[in-house]
Amino acid sequence: MEDNVKESRRQLLKMGSVALAAAPMIGFNTSAFAHQNTSVRTALKFQNYPNGDKRGSNCMNFIPNKNKPTDNGAVHGCRLYPGDDEIVPNGYCLGFVAKSK
Ligand code: SF4
Repeated sequence: MEDNVKESRRQLLKMGSVALAAAPMIGFNTSAFAHQNTSVRTALKFQNYPNGDKRGSNCMNFIPNKNKPTDNGAVHGCRLYPGDDEIVPNGYCLGFVAKSK
């Protein structure tokens, strides 16, 4: 009986250790929940400032924030950045395609 209790405690401690070790991967890893597609940002050389007149707000790929579509201080999306909802309207990248006027 005593051995069973000790074994159960050991099992719980092991499970707790595994859970603690996994926590950064499932809940506290900011890269997984930052809403920035860093690989595409790197590949397309994303920058948080315009390139002359070229900026997200006048790019065909820009997806306006549903709640603040015209707010230049808000973050938005982009067709080329899956899962990234932190695209600034004054940003620029190599994927820029000017909206037709
Ligand atoms: S393609 Fe680049 S410039 Fe155009 S909206 Fe997306 S991030 Fe901005």
